[in-house]
Parts: sequence; structure tokens; C-alpha cells
Amino acid sequence: MVHKFDAVILGAGAAGLMCAIEAGKRGRRVAVLERADRVGKKILISGGGRCNFTNRHCLPEHFNSANPHFAKSALARYEPSDFIALVEKHRIPYHEKTLGQLFCDRSAQDIVNLLETECRAAGVQIILNSGIQEIRRTDEFIVGTESGEFHAPILIIATGGLSIPKLGATSLGYDVARQFGLKIHETRPALVSLLLGAKDREKYCDLAGVSAEVEVSTDHQSFREKMLITHRGLSGPAILQISTYWREHSAIRIDLAPGRDVTLSIREAKERNMAAARSALQGILPKRFATRWLDFHAPPDWTNRALETLEGQIHEWMVEPAGTEGYEKAEVTVGGVDTEELSSKTMESRRVPGLFFIGEVVDVTGHLGGFNFQWAWASGAAAGRAI
Ligand SMILES: Cc1cc2nc3c(=O)[nH]c(=O)nc-3n(C[C@H](O)[C@H](O)[C@H](O)COP(=O)(O)OP(=O)(O)OC[C@H]3O[C@@H](n4cnc5c(N)ncnc54)[C@H](O)[C@@H]3O)c2cc1C
Repeated sequence: MVHKFDAVILGAGAAGLMCAIEAGKRGRRVAVLERADRVGKKILISGGGRCNFTNRHCLPEHFNSANPHFAKSALARYEPSDFIALVEKHRIPYHEKTLGQLFCDRSAQDIVNLLETECRAAGVQIILNSGIQEIRRTDEFIVGTESGEFHAPILIIATGGLSIPKLGATSLGYDVARQFGLKIHETRPALVSLLLGAKDREKYCDLAGVSAEVEVSTDHQSFREKMLITHRGLSGPAILQISTYWREHSAIRIDLAPGRDVTLSIREAKERNMAAARSALQGILPKRFATRWLDFHAPPDWTNRALETLEGQIHEWMVEPAGTEGYEKAEVTVGGVDTEELSSKTMESRRVPGLFFIGEVVDVTGHLGGFNFQWAWASGAAAGRAI
């Protein structure tokens, strides 16, 4: 059986649904094909079940991409205030957490309901449990599924990244890009906990649950947020953020006492000794962590020079992670369809007219804090308004 539409969208996640709404509102006949048995599964688990649906302070520097300018146009044309207006139109109660992050008061289901209601109003057809068997292009795109062939002059790929395969993540988006000759930037799990090597694990991981505010850096990025010790390594917002920029076999730099002069009180103490050092560091870090860290970084003596070295180590604790918790646990996938292949205004492929890529499948990855959804809404809207 053949179903004819103006546009077929693959993936009923954040980007696909937003695109469908915008295109439907413009009178386009739109079908969304979704492999899962319900829409927006990732939205439902996002933000600890409350969906951090956007961030009030959304700037291009909150995104990672081989081309840092690419996201600007779409982000400027669909701003956080646009999505907030939609949330308010649907009378969804929400609140602001730290750093402009907006969450639902009740649950992420509110956001999925919003998207479904808007889709219905725009006449969008959503077809669930759609296993995609093949994609061809003649004078239009043909998507073969178990429930027949879908024909349309426009095909929009919104199948997301590779993270959380048990929620239905697949590589289809990247496969389609390859099939049509588009370049892909190597993908990696991101916004993910880092694993410590065996030695560091032995030293610190029995402190699992201990957290501290630190500044974590790689050569090009740094984040000042909470770090958490886990049973296998390091986590917490600071570590999740830096994971996007961390490369295997390299170290991250952890400033355990950002902006503080820790050894000043040791230098001024009546007696310079381990007790004075512990007391200085325990004033800044959780007691157990401060003690443990000093056990492994005890200065050889208490000269000014040794204290200077200690001060340096506190601000530049170099840790070489052994890896990440992988796609099973990652919130997002960094890398993806090369932005050089796409129009930054419409998300349409430059090589293959009518073929669009939106959302996480594109090489644009947001920082933690609602930026990934903002990219999904903005890129989805850019494509939906262009077709
Ligand atoms: C645990 C967790 C928490 C998160 N919390 C937040 C948060 O609070 N704020 C934030 O901004 N971001 C958060 N994210 C990231 C955010 O969920 C994603 O960046 C966003 O959902 C990407 O939108 P998308 O539409 O591109 O992809 P997705 O939302 O992943 O949607 C892709 C859709 O395509 C479907 N699909 C995949 N393969 C196929 C196929 N072969 N055939 C048909 N359909 C297919 C999938 O089933 C899915 O429905 C979180 C992610 C995770 C994993």
C-alpha cells in the first residue's frame, strides 16, 4: 500500500514532533514514522522525569560542533521564549532551577502531551511501531515499512543519537546520511560519567556519594559545577559537561578549590604540619575527600616551595579517565551529520535537495541544562518552516 504525503519525518522525538507541528501548521500533509510504541520516550525520562525543556540563557557557546557558527541561525529564529510561550499556552506549570534551567513542576508527560496536542491540531499523522525497511529516492523519497510505502518529496531525519539504546536509539540517521553520501563527524557518548583507572578507583571510589564544587577543564573548555565520586569514577554536572570535550587517553584538570588560596592558612599556622593542611583543605572540600586526597598528595616537607607545589596540585589535579559509562548511560551523542553538508537556515542537505536532518543526529551537541532540547526545537522549527 502506498501512502502519499508532502513530507515524511523519521522519528517522533523532540525535533521530529516540533518539525511536524510547524510544517502541519503551514498546511503540509505530514507523516511521522516512529519505531517505538509511543512518542517522545526520551522526553519522558529527561531531566529526572521533569524535562529540563529549555534554558533561559541560550547562547551559541552552549553548543559543541565542528562548526561553532552553524547553530546560530536556527537558535536565533526559535528562541527559548518561543517554547516557553507554547508551555504557557498549554498551562503547564514550570519552575526555574539554577542557571536558567526550566523544568516541569509535574512531569515530562506534560511536554509530550503538548507536542501530541499540537500535532493533532496541525493534522499531523503519527504512525507508531514503524520498522523502516528501506529508503529510496526516485523523483521523490520512498520509505518502505511493514505498513506500506510512504512517498513524499521531502524526507526529514529526526532519529536522534545513539545514547540509551534500550529506549530505541538506532543508527538509522547516520546510515541514511551515509547512503546519500553525506559526511559524518565521528560520534562519541557525551554528558556521561567518566570511569577512573584501577589505581585511582582504589584510591577514591569507596568515597562514592561525596560531592564538591570544582572547576573541571580540558584545553578548550572549563565548567565550575558539582563533581560527584561514584563507585566507578566521577560524575555530577561538572564531569558530565566536560565529558563532551574529553578525548580518550587525555587528562582532565580539576581545580578542587577554585579561586581559593588553600595553603595560606598553613603558611601562617603556628606549626606547619599535616594537621594544619587537613584543616585547610577540609574547610573547602568534604572532610573525607580532603583527608584522602591529602594522603596521596602529602608534601615532602613544609617549606614555602613545597606548599606552593601543593597549592598548584590542589588547583590542577590531573586525572586521566579510563573511559566513559558509554552510550548505555550517556545523555547525548556528540558528533553526527557534518554541518557543512546542511543549510544552517533550513537544515536541508546541500547535496540532496528535499533531504533534511534535525536534532541530535546533526553534529550539534548542547551543554547540560536544557540546551539539547532547545536545539531540537530550534532545528525542528527551522526545517518545518522551510517546507
Ligand atoms: C536520560 C536523559 C536525560 C536527558 N535530559 C535532558 C534534559 O533534561 N534537557 C535536555 O535539553 N536534554 C536532555 N536530554 C537530551 C535530549 O533528550 C535529546 O538531546 C533530545 O531528545 C534529542 O531530540 P531528537 O528529537 O533529536 O532525538 P530523540 O528525542 O532521541 O528522538 C528520536 C526518535 O527517533 C526514533 N527512532 C530512532 N531510530 C528509529 C528508526 N530506525 N526508525 C524510526 N524511528 C526511530 C526514536 O525512537 C525516537 O523517538 C536527555 C537525554 C537522556 C538520555
